[in-house]
Amino acid sequence: MGLERPEGHDLQIEGLWSAARDERLPHALMFTGADGIGKHMAARWFLAGLFCERGPGPPCGECGACRRLAAGSFGDLFVVDPEEEGGDRIKIGRIARREQEDGGCLEEFLSLRPAEGGWRGVILRDVELATREAENALLKTLEEPGDSCCIVLVTAHPSRLLDTVRSRCVQVGFESPERETCAGVLMDAGFDAETSGRISRWVSSAPGRALRWARRSAVAERRLLTEVLSGDLDALAATPQILALEGELGEGTPAALARRRAVGFIDLCVDVLRDLARLGAGALAEELPHGDLPQQVLGCANAPSAVRRGAESLWRARRELDSNLAPEAVLDRALSELQAAMAASHPAR
Ligand SMILES: [Zn+2]
Repeated sequence: MGLERPEGHDLQIEGLWSAARDERLPHALMFTGADGIGKHMAARWFLAGLFCERGPGPPCGECGACRRLAAGSFGDLFVVDPEEEGGDRIKIGRIARREQEDGGCLEEFLSLRPAEGGWRGVILRDVELATREAENALLKTLEEPGDSCCIVLVTAHPSRLLDTVRSRCVQVGFESPERETCAGVLMDAGFDAETSGRISRWVSSAPGRALRWARRSAVAERRLLTEVLSGDLDALAATPQILALEGELGEGTPAALARRRAVGFIDLCVDVLRDLARLGAGALAEELPHGDLPQQVLGCANAPSAVRRGAESLWRARRELDSNLAPEAVLDRALSELQAAMAASHPAR
């Protein structure tokens, strides 16, 4: 992997480097904050600055440690990344010496002599995905991580972890960057200014999430959703169009990609309905991520019971997709119910 400076998180990272210079860096940290705001990137950047021969401080990018890190050949960094590894759990074999898992285990890594002689770093991304067994093994490691070692747990859902795990880590909270910063990340990735601005608004300025949304054509998804909600497109005609959208959804079989598309679309619907509920409760449209929807759709907020019925259909759809029902059937049913609920709230046209 290359080495990238995360946007908008300098304060926290500088604070940690400063603690390291004063020899008071905790052995275990927990990076928390919303999904997709750059916590994982911040963890890599922070550790890189710890490893840097001129550190602790911003990685110079030129010394041997920085170069080996950028080339992926640095020996004293151990990363567990379920997203990269294509799994949806962190299994015991990645933490303790049990069943063999690809990539080795944390316990083994920490038992070895440091390869470079300086700091050793560990990143456990989306650590809430650890199985209970894996989490218990992690707890033991957190009790005695060893010298010159910093373990960074990264999670958007700290409440899903054991209290005992949380209490052994010093929490470092991360906020979403400014919307302009998020839009800038999308534009750097090649998206036009309008797409970048709209998506940054919809994801509340979380750049990682924004990139995923832009790559899977979220602008087209929301246009179709808008047409369904306003009654301009029949729900049953929407499903094939949604499933035929172009965009990157990662690796997988056609069935897995269709399921991923449906899950993303339903999540988008949930976000939109959440905003309608907030609007109905008195929030201002300009403060809401989806407050830029056309007036006809925003008007549905005046019928809270319709919004609630629609949301119930969506939650059911999410459960059905989790239990592997066919995405076409789930979308057909959920969008029909959503459209019917919203039609009842439209003033007669
Ligand atoms: Zn360096």
